[in-house]
Amino acid sequence: MKTGDMPRILIVDDSPTNVQILAEGLKADYHIKVANSGASALRAATGNEPPDLILLDAIMPEMDGYEVCRRLTAGDATRNIPIIFVTANHSAADEERGLSLGAADYITKPFNLPIVRARVRNHILLKQKTDMLESLAQLDGLTNIPNRRRLEEVLAVEWRRASRTQTPISVVMLDIDHFKPFNDYYGHGVGDICLKAVAQALQSMLSRPADMVARYGGEEFAAVLPGVGFSGASAVAENFRQAVYSLHLPHARSSVLDQVTITAGFASCAMPTGDSYTELLAAADKMLYQAKSAGRNRSCGTRLA
Ligand code: GH3
Ligand code: MG
Ligand code: MG
Repeated sequence: MKTGDMPRILIVDDSPTNVQILAEGLKADYHIKVANSGASALRAATGNEPPDLILLDAIMPEMDGYEVCRRLTAGDATRNIPIIFVTANHSAADEERGLSLGAADYITKPFNLPIVRARVRNHILLKQKTDMLESLAQLDGLTNIPNRRRLEEVLAVEWRRASRTQTPISVVMLDIDHFKPFNDYYGHGVGDICLKAVAQALQSMLSRPADMVARYGGEEFAAVLPGVGFSGASAVAENFRQAVYSLHLPHARSSVLDQVTITAGFASCAMPTGDSYTELLAAADKMLYQAKSAGRNRSCGTRLA
C-alpha cells in the first residue's frame, strides 16, 4: 500500500443491496471495489491493484465465502490480505470455521455500520504496519538497498522462472577493494558514508525493472540479472566498476589507485535447470576471488554449464 493513497477494500457479496450499504458507509475513507461472486473475488484479489482488506460474504452460489477464504489464505500473493467475513451465518460453529480458515474477523448480518467501520479501520492499520515491517525487513539498514535475505528470495524466484522459460540469468558479486585499510585510515564513520555512496552508485546503474542489487555482506554487494547472458553480465559488471570509479572517493591506503575501487565476479547460466541457484552465486564468488588475485579493480566471469 502506497502512503498517501486511500487503502483499497474489496467487497464480495452476491446481494447488490448489501454491497451498496457497505460501499456507501466506507467510500469516504477507502477506495472500494466490488465482486459479486467467489470467482470474481479471486480475480480481483490477484489483479495488479490488490485490495488491502476484503469484506467477504459467506453464502454465495457456486463458490462460497469459506472456499474463497481458503484459497486466498493459501495463495502466496494473497495470504497477507486481511479478510473480514460479513455474513448471516451467526452460529458459533460458522464463526469458528471462518476464523480457523484464517479470516481476521467475523461480523454477522444485520450489521451495525459504525462497528464495521471501526473494525475495518483497525485491520487496515494493522495491515499498514505489517506492510511497513515487511518492506523494512527486506532492506539493509545502512544503505537502504535490498539486503541479502531479499536478494536470495528474488534469486530463488527468478531462477525458477528462468528454468521454466529457459531464459538466461546472471549474478554479479562485488567487493570494495582494500576496505579494511580504508576504515582503519579514515574511520568507521567515513567507511559507512563510502558504503552508502557505493550502494547508490551501483543501484543507479540498474536499467531493467527485474534487475536488483543488494548489500550482501559488510562491503560486499550482489546483483541478480534475470534474462541476461554472459556478455550482458560482463557489460553490467564493468558498468558497476565504472560507476564506483566515477565517484572518485579518495583512498590513501589502496594498492590499486588513490581512490575507492571495486572488484566484480560474475556467473551466467544460459539454460537454468533444477533449483541450484546457489551454484550460480558460488561461481560468481569464485570469479570475484580470481579477479581479486589478478589485481583488483576488474571483473572476471564464467559460464555455468
Ligand atoms: P579486499 O581488497 O581483498 O577485498 O580487502 P578488504 O580490506 O576490502 O577486505 P576485508 O574483508 O579484509 O575487510 C572488509 C572490511 O569491511 C572490514 C570491516 O571493518 C569493513 N566493514 C564491514 N562492514 C562494515 C560496515 O558496515 N561499516 C564499515 N564502516 N565498515 C565495514
Ligand atoms: Mg573488500
Ligand atoms: Mg570482503
